[in-house]
Amino acid sequence: MKITFYGAAETVTGSCFKLTTDNGSNILIDCGLFQGSRELKERNYGDFAFDPSEIDVVLLTHAHIDHSGLIPKLSNKGFQGKIFTTNVTKELCSIMLPDSGHIQEMEVERKNRKLARANKPLLDPIYTVEDAEKCMGQFVGVAYNTPVEILPEIKTIFKDAGHILGSAMIELYVEGKKILFSGDIGNNDQPIINDPTIIDQADFVIMESTYGNRFHLETEDKATQLVQIINKTIRKGGNLIIPAFAIERTQDLIYHLKKIVNSDLIPKIDIYIDSPLAIRATEIFCKYPDFYDEDATKLKEEENQCIFDFPGLKYTLSADESKAINFLKNNNIIISASGMCDAGRIKHHLKHNLWKSQTTVLFVGYQAQGTLGRKILDGEKVVRIHGEEVAVNADIENIEGFSAHADQKALVEWVQKFKDKPEKIFLVHGEPEGMQMLAKVIKDETKNNVLIPKVGETIELIRSKETVAEVSDFEKEISKTFELFESKLQDILNNSGNSTKILEELDKLKTKIK
Ligand SMILES: [Zn+2]
Ligand SMILES: [Zn+2]
Repeated sequence: MKITFYGAAETVTGSCFKLTTDNGSNILIDCGLFQGSRELKERNYGDFAFDPSEIDVVLLTHAHIDHSGLIPKLSNKGFQGKIFTTNVTKELCSIMLPDSGHIQEMEVERKNRKLARANKPLLDPIYTVEDAEKCMGQFVGVAYNTPVEILPEIKTIFKDAGHILGSAMIELYVEGKKILFSGDIGNNDQPIINDPTIIDQADFVIMESTYGNRFHLETEDKATQLVQIINKTIRKGGNLIIPAFAIERTQDLIYHLKKIVNSDLIPKIDIYIDSPLAIRATEIFCKYPDFYDEDATKLKEEENQCIFDFPGLKYTLSADESKAINFLKNNNIIISASGMCDAGRIKHHLKHNLWKSQTTVLFVGYQAQGTLGRKILDGEKVVRIHGEEVAVNADIENIEGFSAHADQKALVEWVQKFKDKPEKIFLVHGEPEGMQMLAKVIKDETKNNVLIPKVGETIELIRSKETVAEVSDFEKEISKTFELFESKLQDILNNSGNSTKILEELDKLKTKIK
């Protein structure tokens, strides 16, 4: 059995790993979109490095686009099997993938306008809304902690990864071995959802490392910081713009803001959720209270209605409602997507507010290299939005603790819970510095065997016990050959009068040993 790392290898996005069994079955774990720099995004347009029609089954850890975003293309290029994932992920994908298809269509339309003017051949979108809707027919929803036979004699169990609603770690039982794909590992004490599952045994682990060199703030600290930033922005007389991922981060913020508003820690203020995707995702969050943690379950029982609602919170679904926000000068919190500011309505809000010194832009999520969000966060003084130069005069704030990813401490603790050392831990889904740091800390503190695979690299999954067996088989073969050698040598000595015979025997022996 072997594994090939097609994405999220020495980078965060584009998660895609192929497991090929000894009898030739191909299982793809995640099939995500590359995000970030132009070079990374270009990878989405190229052919897959494998034949999609040869994939027997896809397992999907969670709905985030860097894990699910190339599934419509995979199906479009010939993949006909089933896509196993949790019921919530299936439902979230039914809104996220068509939304991503729409973004692809828009992006190519823009690129093609330029190409047409330059008299160059036009591009096709990576996939369309229609492709995305079509592939949803291949999704099969499964429950957590329930064994599912995905192919003859290959079993999988999805465990709660505590990263976003419905996210999973995937245990794969193949050829007597257990392979564990961590997916994205959640941050402990995230609101709404449970903590990541502790798993105490696996032969091979494919593990994320996004925050391999970072440490998060405690929960109370981030709520306090949020209150301070809101009050400071109100005093300055501006708006607070929060770019947030449509799924989980937006709902986390609503959950935190609800507590802040109910405790009268800020003056009366309007809070806009201005992202159609985030609004639909919130509806799905309302629909699946069974996936909530203890606190959110209690709140749901007390209120006996959807918990994502409170005075002052406004969901702006239509484009007209969204445009009206552009004219609001102060005392508003605008939460919009995409989380890394690369697409969607957030770009409009940044264009209208970034140049004003009264504005505050608050980052609450990971900003990949090359994204507009990262540029603003890194302190660029002028950025391009929709082809226009916009000065950055706003205050830029960042609260890292909102992350939906475990930090270095939590990642190492997760590894420490394995009772027996896994044969190998492969680090994926990180930027090189973070991965190297995490690899070093895991090696030092847990004495585990850690590897950082390169993109396109294939590695045989062999346990050292098997290697021992193989070595002893080899030794047996060698000793048999030596026995033969000895007996032939004896024959030669016995026939030492006949030199032709000796040469013949030596030749035969040479061929045998070869
Ligand atoms: Zn994720
Ligand atoms: Zn991810």
